[in-house]
Amino acid sequence: MRISGDSSDVLVVGGGIIGLVTAWRSAQRGLRTTLADPAPGGGAAQVAAGMLAAVTELHYGEQTLLGLNVASAERYPAFVAELEEASGLTTGFRSCGTLSVALDSDDRAHLRELHALQQRSGLRSEWLSGRECRRLEPMLAPGVRGGLRVDGDHQVDPRRLASALVTACERAGVLFRRAWVRRLTVTGGRATGVVLADGTEPAAGQVVLAGGSLSGRLAGLPEAVVPPVRPVKGQVLRLTVPSAYAPFLSRTVRAVVRGSHVYLVPRADGELVVGATTEELGWDTTVTAGGVYELLRDAHDLIPGITELPLTETRAGLRPASPDNAPLLGPTALPGLHLATGHHRNGVLLTPVTGDVMAHVLTTGELPEVGRPFAPSRFASASPEAGQSSPPEDTAPAPQEQPV
Ligand SMILES: Cc1cc2nc3c(=O)[nH]c(=O)nc-3n(C[C@H](O)[C@H](O)[C@H](O)COP(=O)(O)OP(=O)(O)OC[C@H]3O[C@@H](n4cnc5c(N)ncnc54)[C@H](O)[C@@H]3O)c2cc1C
Repeated sequence: MRISGDSSDVLVVGGGIIGLVTAWRSAQRGLRTTLADPAPGGGAAQVAAGMLAAVTELHYGEQTLLGLNVASAERYPAFVAELEEASGLTTGFRSCGTLSVALDSDDRAHLRELHALQQRSGLRSEWLSGRECRRLEPMLAPGVRGGLRVDGDHQVDPRRLASALVTACERAGVLFRRAWVRRLTVTGGRATGVVLADGTEPAAGQVVLAGGSLSGRLAGLPEAVVPPVRPVKGQVLRLTVPSAYAPFLSRTVRAVVRGSHVYLVPRADGELVVGATTEELGWDTTVTAGGVYELLRDAHDLIPGITELPLTETRAGLRPASPDNAPLLGPTALPGLHLATGHHRNGVLLTPVTGDVMAHVLTTGELPEVGRPFAPSRFASASPEAGQSSPPEDTAPAPQEQPV
Protein backbone atom coordinates (compact mmCIF):
# COMPACT_ATOMS: atom_id res chain seq x y z
CA MET A 1 0.00 0.00 0.00
CA ARG A 2 1.42 3.38 -1.02
CA ILE A 3 1.49 6.13 1.56
CA SER A 4 0.85 9.42 -0.21
CA GLY A 5 2.79 12.44 0.91
CA ASP A 6 -0.26 14.65 0.97
CA SER A 7 -1.75 15.77 4.18
CA SER A 8 -4.34 18.46 4.70
CA ASP A 9 -6.19 20.20 7.49
CA VAL A 10 -9.55 18.96 6.19
CA LEU A 11 -10.42 16.01 3.97
CA VAL A 12 -13.99 15.88 2.65
CA VAL A 13 -15.36 12.48 1.56
CA GLY A 14 -17.92 13.08 -1.19
CA GLY A 15 -18.23 15.80 -3.81
CA GLY A 16 -21.98 16.29 -4.06
CA ILE A 17 -23.19 19.83 -3.38
CA ILE A 18 -22.88 19.33 0.40
CA GLY A 19 -19.27 18.12 0.28
CA LEU A 20 -18.40 20.82 -2.26
CA VAL A 21 -19.85 23.68 -0.24
CA THR A 22 -18.08 22.37 2.86
CA ALA A 23 -14.76 22.21 1.01
CA TRP A 24 -15.22 25.66 -0.54
CA ARG A 25 -16.04 27.34 2.76
CA SER A 26 -13.25 25.45 4.51
CA ALA A 27 -10.66 26.58 1.94
CA GLN A 28 -11.94 30.15 2.17
CA ARG A 29 -11.19 30.05 5.90
CA GLY A 30 -7.55 29.25 5.12
CA LEU A 31 -7.71 25.50 5.85
CA ARG A 32 -5.75 23.26 3.47
CA THR A 33 -8.62 21.22 2.05
CA THR A 34 -8.81 18.00 0.01
CA LEU A 35 -12.01 16.56 -1.48
CA ALA A 36 -12.23 12.91 -2.57
CA ASP A 37 -14.86 11.77 -5.08
CA PRO A 38 -14.46 9.97 -8.42
CA ALA A 39 -16.80 12.51 -10.07
CA PRO A 40 -17.16 15.72 -8.07
CA GLY A 41 -20.32 17.66 -8.89
CA GLY A 42 -22.36 14.48 -9.52
CA GLY A 43 -24.79 12.96 -7.04
CA ALA A 44 -28.39 13.87 -6.36
CA ALA A 45 -27.95 17.44 -7.64
CA GLN A 46 -27.87 16.03 -11.17
CA VAL A 47 -31.49 14.96 -10.69
CA ALA A 48 -32.95 17.42 -8.15
CA ALA A 49 -35.51 20.03 -9.13
CA GLY A 50 -33.88 22.80 -7.10
CA MET A 51 -36.93 24.17 -5.33
CA LEU A 52 -35.94 26.39 -2.42
CA ALA A 53 -39.16 25.56 -0.64
CA ALA A 54 -38.78 26.50 3.03
CA VAL A 55 -42.46 27.53 3.24
CA THR A 56 -44.23 25.09 0.90
CA GLU A 57 -42.22 22.15 2.29
CA LEU A 58 -43.37 22.77 5.87
CA HIS A 59 -44.62 19.58 7.53
CA TYR A 60 -46.11 18.86 10.93
CA GLY A 61 -43.41 17.80 13.35
CA GLU A 62 -40.62 19.45 11.34
CA GLN A 63 -40.58 22.84 13.09
CA THR A 64 -36.91 22.50 14.07
CA LEU A 65 -35.92 21.79 10.49
CA LEU A 66 -38.00 24.80 9.45
CA GLY A 67 -35.60 27.09 11.34
CA LEU A 68 -32.64 25.76 9.36
CA ASN A 69 -34.55 25.86 6.06
CA VAL A 70 -35.55 29.48 6.60
CA ALA A 71 -32.02 30.44 7.66
CA SER A 72 -30.68 28.93 4.43
CA ALA A 73 -33.38 30.48 2.22
CA GLU A 74 -32.49 33.90 3.63
CA ARG A 75 -28.81 33.34 2.77
CA TYR A 76 -29.50 32.25 -0.84
CA PRO A 77 -29.35 35.58 -2.73
CA ALA A 78 -26.02 36.61 -1.16
CA PHE A 79 -24.70 33.03 -1.44
CA VAL A 80 -25.35 32.73 -5.19
CA ALA A 81 -23.99 36.24 -5.81
CA GLU A 82 -20.74 35.28 -4.05
CA LEU A 83 -20.56 31.87 -5.75
CA GLU A 84 -21.20 33.31 -9.21
CA GLU A 85 -18.51 35.93 -8.62
CA ALA A 86 -16.05 33.32 -7.33
CA SER A 87 -16.69 30.82 -10.15
CA GLY A 88 -17.58 33.06 -13.07
CA LEU A 89 -20.56 30.73 -13.67
CA THR A 90 -24.31 31.22 -13.30
CA THR A 91 -26.43 29.12 -10.95
CA GLY A 92 -29.87 29.65 -12.50
CA PHE A 93 -31.17 31.19 -9.24
CA ARG A 94 -34.64 32.56 -9.97
CA SER A 95 -36.81 34.59 -7.56
CA CYS A 96 -40.01 33.36 -9.13
CA GLY A 97 -42.13 32.23 -6.16
CA THR A 98 -44.37 29.16 -5.90
CA LEU A 99 -48.06 28.39 -6.25
CA SER A 100 -49.45 25.29 -4.46
CA VAL A 101 -52.89 24.41 -5.78
CA ALA A 102 -55.78 22.07 -4.90
CA LEU A 103 -57.68 20.09 -7.53
CA ASP A 104 -60.48 18.78 -5.30
CA SER A 105 -62.13 19.53 -1.97
CA ASP A 106 -59.88 17.12 -0.02
CA ASP A 107 -56.76 18.82 -1.41
CA ARG A 108 -58.28 22.19 -0.61
CA ALA A 109 -58.88 21.19 3.01
CA HIS A 110 -55.29 19.93 3.22
CA LEU A 111 -53.93 23.18 1.78
CA ARG A 112 -56.08 25.22 4.17
CA GLU A 113 -54.48 23.33 7.07
CA LEU A 114 -51.03 23.94 5.64
CA HIS A 115 -51.86 27.64 5.30
CA ALA A 116 -52.90 27.79 8.98
CA LEU A 117 -49.68 26.02 10.01
CA GLN A 118 -47.61 28.42 7.92
CA GLN A 119 -49.31 31.39 9.55
CA ARG A 120 -48.82 29.98 13.05
CA SER A 121 -45.14 29.54 12.15
CA GLY A 122 -44.82 33.18 11.09
CA LEU A 123 -44.38 32.34 7.38
CA ARG A 124 -45.78 34.39 4.52
CA SER A 125 -48.33 32.84 2.17
CA GLU A 126 -51.59 34.04 0.66
CA TRP A 127 -54.77 32.05 0.01
CA LEU A 128 -56.15 32.45 -3.55
CA SER A 129 -59.40 31.29 -5.17
CA GLY A 130 -59.25 28.98 -8.19
CA ARG A 131 -59.94 31.92 -10.48
CA GLU A 132 -57.12 33.95 -8.91
CA CYS A 133 -54.74 31.00 -9.35
CA ARG A 134 -55.61 30.74 -13.05
CA ARG A 135 -55.17 34.47 -13.49
CA LEU A 136 -51.60 34.05 -12.22
CA GLU A 137 -50.94 30.88 -14.21
CA PRO A 138 -53.31 30.59 -17.21
CA MET A 139 -52.08 27.07 -18.12
CA LEU A 140 -53.60 25.62 -14.92
CA ALA A 141 -56.46 23.14 -15.31
CA PRO A 142 -59.92 24.77 -15.18
CA GLY A 143 -60.86 22.59 -12.19
CA VAL A 144 -58.35 24.17 -9.77
CA ARG A 145 -60.23 24.84 -6.50
CA GLY A 146 -57.86 27.26 -4.80
CA GLY A 147 -54.23 27.63 -3.86
CA LEU A 148 -51.49 29.13 -1.79
CA ARG A 149 -49.25 31.81 -3.25
CA VAL A 150 -45.80 31.75 -1.67
CA ASP A 151 -43.69 34.54 -3.12
CA GLY A 152 -40.63 33.67 -1.00
CA ASP A 153 -40.05 30.09 -2.27
CA HIS A 154 -37.64 30.37 -5.19
CA GLN A 155 -35.51 27.97 -7.28
CA VAL A 156 -31.98 27.33 -8.44
CA ASP A 157 -30.62 24.96 -11.10
CA PRO A 158 -28.81 22.26 -9.06
CA ARG A 159 -26.64 21.16 -12.00
CA ARG A 160 -25.36 24.69 -12.49
CA LEU A 161 -24.98 25.07 -8.74
CA ALA A 162 -22.81 21.94 -8.60
CA SER A 163 -20.62 23.08 -11.52
CA ALA A 164 -20.16 26.51 -9.96
CA LEU A 165 -19.16 24.91 -6.66
CA VAL A 166 -16.56 22.68 -8.38
CA THR A 167 -14.99 25.72 -10.06
CA ALA A 168 -15.16 27.84 -6.89
CA CYS A 169 -13.41 25.02 -4.99
CA GLU A 170 -10.68 24.78 -7.63
CA ARG A 171 -10.14 28.53 -7.53
CA ALA A 172 -10.04 28.52 -3.71
CA GLY A 173 -7.28 25.91 -3.79
CA VAL A 174 -9.20 22.75 -2.86
CA LEU A 175 -7.22 19.68 -3.93
CA PHE A 176 -9.43 17.17 -5.77
CA ARG A 177 -8.64 13.48 -5.45
CA ARG A 178 -10.78 11.87 -8.16
CA ALA A 179 -11.12 8.44 -6.56
CA TRP A 180 -13.41 6.46 -4.25
CA VAL A 181 -12.58 6.47 -0.58
CA ARG A 182 -12.17 2.82 0.31
CA ARG A 183 -12.03 3.28 4.07
CA LEU A 184 -11.59 5.70 6.93
CA THR A 185 -8.26 5.59 8.74
CA VAL A 186 -8.52 5.61 12.53
CA THR A 187 -5.31 5.95 14.53
CA GLY A 188 -5.16 6.08 18.31
CA GLY A 189 -8.94 6.54 18.59
CA ARG A 190 -8.99 9.44 16.11
CA ALA A 191 -9.91 9.81 12.41
CA THR A 192 -6.63 10.68 10.73
CA GLY A 193 -7.34 10.33 7.01
CA VAL A 194 -8.62 7.85 4.44
CA VAL A 195 -7.48 5.10 2.11
CA LEU A 196 -8.33 5.79 -1.54
CA ALA A 197 -9.14 3.22 -4.22
CA ASP A 198 -5.77 3.95 -5.87
CA GLY A 199 -4.09 2.75 -2.67
CA THR A 200 -2.85 6.13 -1.49
CA GLU A 201 -3.56 7.25 2.07
CA PRO A 202 -4.03 10.99 2.35
CA ALA A 203 -3.90 12.16 5.95
CA ALA A 204 -5.94 14.96 7.45
CA GLY A 205 -6.43 16.77 10.74
CA GLN A 206 -10.19 16.54 10.31
CA VAL A 207 -12.33 14.33 8.04
CA VAL A 208 -15.83 15.32 6.91
CA LEU A 209 -18.09 12.52 5.73
CA ALA A 210 -20.44 13.97 3.06
CA GLY A 211 -21.18 10.84 1.07
CA GLY A 212 -24.91 11.42 0.58
CA SER A 213 -26.96 8.22 0.71
CA LEU A 214 -23.71 6.19 0.82
CA SER A 215 -22.50 7.89 4.01
CA GLY A 216 -23.38 4.94 6.23
CA ARG A 217 -21.50 2.50 4.01
CA LEU A 218 -17.94 3.79 4.43
CA ALA A 219 -15.68 1.02 5.69
CA GLY A 220 -13.69 1.71 8.83
CA LEU A 221 -16.39 3.72 10.58
CA PRO A 222 -16.72 2.60 14.19
CA GLU A 223 -20.29 1.32 14.76
CA ALA A 224 -21.13 4.13 17.15
CA VAL A 225 -20.64 6.81 14.47
CA VAL A 226 -22.27 5.14 11.44
CA PRO A 227 -24.78 7.77 10.27
CA PRO A 228 -28.39 6.49 10.07
CA VAL A 229 -28.82 7.64 6.47
CA ARG A 230 -30.74 5.74 3.81
CA PRO A 231 -31.43 6.33 0.10
CA VAL A 232 -34.91 7.53 -0.95
CA LYS A 233 -35.34 7.26 -4.70
CA GLY A 234 -36.93 10.02 -6.76
CA GLN A 235 -37.75 9.91 -10.46
CA VAL A 236 -37.85 13.21 -12.35
CA LEU A 237 -38.75 14.24 -15.91
CA ARG A 238 -37.33 17.12 -17.91
CA LEU A 239 -39.34 18.73 -20.69
CA THR A 240 -38.58 21.69 -22.92
CA VAL A 241 -40.88 24.63 -23.46
CA PRO A 242 -40.45 25.79 -27.10
CA SER A 243 -40.09 29.56 -27.33
CA ALA A 244 -43.44 29.79 -29.13
CA TYR A 245 -45.14 28.50 -25.93
CA ALA A 246 -43.29 30.78 -23.51
CA PRO A 247 -44.05 31.80 -20.86
CA PHE A 248 -45.64 28.42 -20.16
CA LEU A 249 -45.42 28.86 -16.39
CA SER A 250 -43.98 31.86 -14.59
CA ARG A 251 -43.39 30.20 -11.20
CA THR A 252 -43.10 26.76 -9.61
CA VAL A 253 -46.51 25.09 -9.52
CA ARG A 254 -47.20 22.15 -7.24
CA ALA A 255 -50.14 20.11 -6.02
CA VAL A 256 -51.22 16.91 -4.37
CA VAL A 257 -52.97 14.78 -7.01
CA ARG A 258 -54.65 11.52 -5.89
CA GLY A 259 -52.56 11.73 -2.73
CA SER A 260 -49.23 12.08 -4.60
CA HIS A 261 -47.18 15.24 -4.67
CA VAL A 262 -46.27 16.62 -8.09
CA TYR A 263 -44.43 19.79 -9.02
CA LEU A 264 -43.42 21.64 -12.17
CA VAL A 265 -40.38 23.90 -11.96
CA PRO A 266 -39.88 26.24 -14.97
CA ARG A 267 -36.31 27.37 -15.64
CA ALA A 268 -35.48 30.65 -17.38
CA ASP A 269 -33.83 28.69 -20.24
CA GLY A 270 -37.05 26.83 -21.15
CA GLU A 271 -36.40 23.62 -19.20
CA LEU A 272 -39.41 22.38 -17.24
CA VAL A 273 -38.69 19.89 -14.44
CA VAL A 274 -41.51 17.58 -13.37
CA GLY A 275 -41.07 15.59 -10.17
CA ALA A 276 -40.91 13.48 -8.23
CA THR A 277 -41.64 9.98 -7.02
CA THR A 278 -40.68 8.93 -3.49
CA GLU A 279 -39.62 5.28 -3.32
CA GLU A 280 -37.90 3.21 -0.65
CA LEU A 281 -35.96 0.82 -2.91
CA GLY A 282 -32.42 0.97 -1.60
CA TRP A 283 -29.82 2.19 -4.11
CA ASP A 284 -31.92 1.42 -7.19
CA THR A 285 -31.93 4.26 -9.75
CA THR A 286 -33.94 2.60 -12.51
CA VAL A 287 -36.38 4.84 -14.36
CA THR A 288 -39.62 2.89 -14.56
CA ALA A 289 -42.58 3.12 -16.93
CA GLY A 290 -44.84 3.35 -13.88
CA GLY A 291 -42.92 6.26 -12.40
CA VAL A 292 -42.91 8.20 -15.67
CA TYR A 293 -46.59 7.41 -16.25
CA GLU A 294 -47.67 8.62 -12.80
CA LEU A 295 -45.68 11.83 -13.04
CA LEU A 296 -47.06 12.64 -16.50
CA ARG A 297 -50.61 11.69 -15.50
CA ASP A 298 -50.56 13.88 -12.37
CA ALA A 299 -48.79 16.77 -14.12
CA HIS A 300 -51.35 16.57 -16.92
CA ASP A 301 -54.22 16.80 -14.41
CA LEU A 302 -52.62 19.98 -13.15
CA ILE A 303 -51.41 21.52 -16.43
CA PRO A 304 -53.20 19.81 -19.37
CA GLY A 305 -50.99 21.53 -22.00
CA ILE A 306 -47.96 19.64 -20.76
CA THR A 307 -48.52 16.77 -23.19
CA GLU A 308 -47.63 19.10 -26.10
CA LEU A 309 -44.07 19.59 -24.82
CA PRO A 310 -41.01 17.56 -25.89
CA LEU A 311 -39.92 15.10 -23.18
CA THR A 312 -36.13 15.48 -23.10
CA GLU A 313 -34.93 13.46 -20.11
CA THR A 314 -35.99 10.93 -17.49
CA ARG A 315 -33.76 10.21 -14.52
CA ALA A 316 -33.78 8.89 -10.97
CA GLY A 317 -31.69 10.01 -8.02
CA LEU A 318 -31.27 9.22 -4.33
CA ARG A 319 -32.12 11.57 -1.49
CA PRO A 320 -29.94 10.97 1.60
CA ALA A 321 -32.62 10.64 4.27
CA SER A 322 -32.24 10.56 8.05
CA PRO A 323 -34.80 9.26 10.58
CA ASP A 324 -36.13 12.78 11.31
CA ASN A 325 -35.68 14.13 7.76
CA ALA A 326 -33.12 16.66 9.01
CA PRO A 327 -29.37 16.71 8.30
CA LEU A 328 -26.56 15.51 10.55
CA LEU A 329 -23.99 18.28 10.92
CA GLY A 330 -20.76 18.50 12.87
CA PRO A 331 -18.63 16.43 15.22
CA THR A 332 -19.19 12.76 15.95
CA ALA A 333 -18.16 10.63 18.92
CA LEU A 334 -14.96 9.79 16.98
CA PRO A 335 -12.53 12.71 17.41
CA GLY A 336 -11.54 14.19 14.06
CA LEU A 337 -14.63 12.91 12.22
CA HIS A 338 -17.51 15.21 11.25
CA LEU A 339 -20.71 14.53 9.35
CA ALA A 340 -22.42 16.68 6.71
CA THR A 341 -25.14 14.40 5.40
CA GLY A 342 -28.81 13.39 5.64
CA HIS A 343 -30.19 16.47 3.84
CA HIS A 344 -32.96 14.38 2.27
CA ARG A 345 -35.39 16.43 0.16
CA ASN A 346 -33.90 19.84 1.10
CA GLY A 347 -30.21 19.50 0.27
CA VAL A 348 -30.23 22.17 -2.42
CA LEU A 349 -32.06 24.60 -0.16
CA LEU A 350 -29.72 23.81 2.73
CA THR A 351 -26.45 24.23 0.79
CA PRO A 352 -25.63 27.81 1.96
CA VAL A 353 -26.31 27.25 5.65
CA THR A 354 -24.52 23.89 5.61
CA GLY A 355 -21.39 25.54 4.21
CA ASP A 356 -21.47 28.17 6.95
CA VAL A 357 -22.16 25.68 9.75
CA MET A 358 -19.40 23.32 8.64
CA ALA A 359 -16.83 26.11 8.19
CA HIS A 360 -17.61 27.27 11.72
CA VAL A 361 -17.25 23.76 13.14
CA LEU A 362 -14.00 23.09 11.28
CA THR A 363 -12.40 26.32 12.45
CA THR A 364 -13.72 26.49 16.03
CA GLY A 365 -14.66 22.92 16.95
CA GLU A 366 -18.13 24.15 17.96
CA LEU A 367 -21.47 24.08 16.18
CA PRO A 368 -22.92 27.57 15.70
CA GLU A 369 -26.33 28.24 17.25
CA VAL A 370 -28.26 27.54 14.03
CA GLY A 371 -26.63 24.12 13.65
CA ARG A 372 -26.90 22.84 17.22
CA PRO A 373 -30.21 20.97 16.86
CA PHE A 374 -28.65 18.95 14.02
CA ALA A 375 -25.69 17.45 15.88
CA PRO A 376 -25.21 13.75 15.02
CA SER A 377 -25.34 12.97 18.76
CA ARG A 378 -29.15 13.19 18.63
CA PHE A 379 -29.07 9.69 17.11
CA ALA A 380 -26.48 8.37 19.52
CA SER A 381 -28.77 5.55 20.61
CA ALA A 382 -29.97 4.75 17.07
CA SER A 383 -29.35 1.23 15.91
CA PRO A 384 -26.21 0.96 13.78
CA GLU A 385 -28.20 -1.04 11.21
CA ALA A 386 -30.24 2.08 10.44
CA GLY A 387 -27.55 3.33 8.10
CA GLN A 388 -27.21 0.01 6.35
CA SER A 389 -30.46 -0.37 4.44
CA SER A 390 -30.45 -3.29 2.07
CA PRO A 391 -30.39 -3.21 -1.71
CA PRO A 392 -33.79 -3.52 -3.41
CA GLU A 393 -35.70 -6.78 -3.32
CA ASP A 394 -38.46 -8.11 -5.55
CA THR A 395 -40.96 -7.35 -2.81
CA ALA A 396 -39.90 -3.71 -2.46
CA PRO A 397 -42.79 -1.42 -1.51
CA ALA A 398 -44.62 0.73 -4.06
CA PRO A 399 -43.81 4.44 -4.41
CA GLN A 400 -44.92 6.33 -1.33
CA GLU A 401 -46.75 9.55 -0.97
CA GLN A 402 -44.28 12.16 0.08
CA PRO A 403 -43.13 15.42 -1.45
CA VAL A 404 -39.94 16.27 -3.32
C1 LIG B 1 -35.59 13.50 -7.24
C2 LIG B 1 -34.96 14.49 -6.30
C3 LIG B 1 -35.49 15.76 -6.22
C4 LIG B 1 -34.93 16.67 -5.31
N1 LIG B 1 -35.44 17.94 -5.28
C5 LIG B 1 -34.91 18.84 -4.41
C6 LIG B 1 -35.42 20.17 -4.37
O1 LIG B 1 -36.30 20.54 -5.16
N2 LIG B 1 -34.90 21.02 -3.45
C7 LIG B 1 -33.91 20.64 -2.58
O2 LIG B 1 -33.51 21.45 -1.75
N3 LIG B 1 -33.40 19.38 -2.61
C8 LIG B 1 -33.89 18.49 -3.49
N4 LIG B 1 -33.39 17.21 -3.53
C9 LIG B 1 -32.41 16.80 -2.52
C10 LIG B 1 -30.98 17.16 -2.85
O3 LIG B 1 -30.71 16.89 -4.20
C11 LIG B 1 -30.05 16.34 -1.94
O4 LIG B 1 -30.41 16.50 -0.60
C12 LIG B 1 -28.59 16.79 -2.11
O5 LIG B 1 -28.24 16.86 -3.46
C13 LIG B 1 -27.68 15.83 -1.35
O6 LIG B 1 -26.36 16.23 -1.60
P1 LIG B 1 -25.13 15.44 -0.94
O7 LIG B 1 -23.89 16.12 -1.40
O8 LIG B 1 -25.37 15.30 0.53
O9 LIG B 1 -25.24 13.96 -1.48
P2 LIG B 1 -25.04 13.38 -2.95
O10 LIG B 1 -25.55 14.28 -3.97
O11 LIG B 1 -25.57 11.99 -2.91
O12 LIG B 1 -23.46 13.35 -3.14
C14 LIG B 1 -22.68 12.45 -2.43
C15 LIG B 1 -21.36 12.30 -3.16
O13 LIG B 1 -20.52 11.52 -2.34
C16 LIG B 1 -19.81 10.64 -3.17
N5 LIG B 1 -19.38 9.53 -2.35
C17 LIG B 1 -20.12 8.70 -1.57
N6 LIG B 1 -19.34 7.77 -0.98
C18 LIG B 1 -18.07 8.04 -1.38
C19 LIG B 1 -16.84 7.43 -1.13
N7 LIG B 1 -16.71 6.34 -0.35
N8 LIG B 1 -15.73 7.93 -1.73
C20 LIG B 1 -15.82 9.03 -2.54
N9 LIG B 1 -16.99 9.65 -2.81
C21 LIG B 1 -18.08 9.15 -2.24
C22 LIG B 1 -20.76 10.27 -4.28
O14 LIG B 1 -20.03 9.87 -5.42
C23 LIG B 1 -21.50 11.58 -4.50
O15 LIG B 1 -20.87 12.35 -5.50
C24 LIG B 1 -33.87 16.29 -4.47
C25 LIG B 1 -33.31 15.02 -4.60
C26 LIG B 1 -33.84 14.12 -5.51
C27 LIG B 1 -33.22 12.77 -5.66
